[in-house]
Amino acid sequence: MTSGDGWTTCAAGHRHWGLFGAAGLLLRTPPGEPPAVALQLRAERSHHGGTWGILGGARDGDETAVEAALREAGEEATVDPALIHVEASYVDDHGGWAYTTVVATAPSAMALAPRNWESDAVRWVPLAEVDALDLHPGFGRTWPLLREVGPAPVVVVDAANVVGSRPDGWWKDRAGAAARLRDQLAAAAVTGVLGLADGAAGLRSFPRFVLVVEGRARDVGPVAGVEVVGAVGSGDDAVVEAVAGRAGDGRRVIVATADRELRERVGALSAEVLGPRGLLDLL
Ligand SMILES: [Zn+2]
Repeated sequence: MTSGDGWTTCAAGHRHWGLFGAAGLLLRTPPGEPPAVALQLRAERSHHGGTWGILGGARDGDETAVEAALREAGEEATVDPALIHVEASYVDDHGGWAYTTVVATAPSAMALAPRNWESDAVRWVPLAEVDALDLHPGFGRTWPLLREVGPAPVVVVDAANVVGSRPDGWWKDRAGAAARLRDQLAAAAVTGVLGLADGAAGLRSFPRFVLVVEGRARDVGPVAGVEVVGAVGSGDDAVVEAVAGRAGDGRRVIVATADRELRERVGALSAEVLGPRGLLDLL
């Protein structure tokens, strides 16, 4: 692992910690809890000591911004990275140095405490009280953009329809084509996608993907980041069921299909629709 510990200077002339940039976790309470964010009172002897910011720090040379934000949060406070749901990320690019804020949801408003010397306190701050604090300048700049970011959507993919939209020989191997689409979705679940998040321009969204497969593609298995639903009967019915099962969990549901009748059925359940081309352009 190549440590990113060290000072550098960005194109705007600021001094920053993190040779490969830095990343932090804007952790929020889950829906149903009073809205709050996990903030850190930075230790006096740290850079911008005495200000409030988010848990985070220097990226290592071989980790993604999401990995760095989760790792740093786990090192600095009583946060278990395995239980955190990543929703979105936003890059504040200074030129030659960038800070990535990872917006995420905690499983509960669990007790928070510092784990190392970098924080004098770590606590849940109600949304309405954040602006009254003396904020770290970097966090203060992005907070107005990020405070309204919604949870990442669920994207339900009508595999047969989307696979059928690109003439790559899918008709010779329907299961193989569905597996290729699944693997593209899995990659996008890791990197996030541009253009789906509501909120600031340049936000990457980290959707939950549900791939509905039918017929000869029914044996395609799930992979990390993609739930696979094998339709027992009609694929359309399975898509509608998947959408109905997610109503009320507070996330936008987007269905990827060009099938007109199916679009009407899921539209009646308040789902948004996206054409196959629109989905493939995101990946
Ligand atoms: Zn800078």
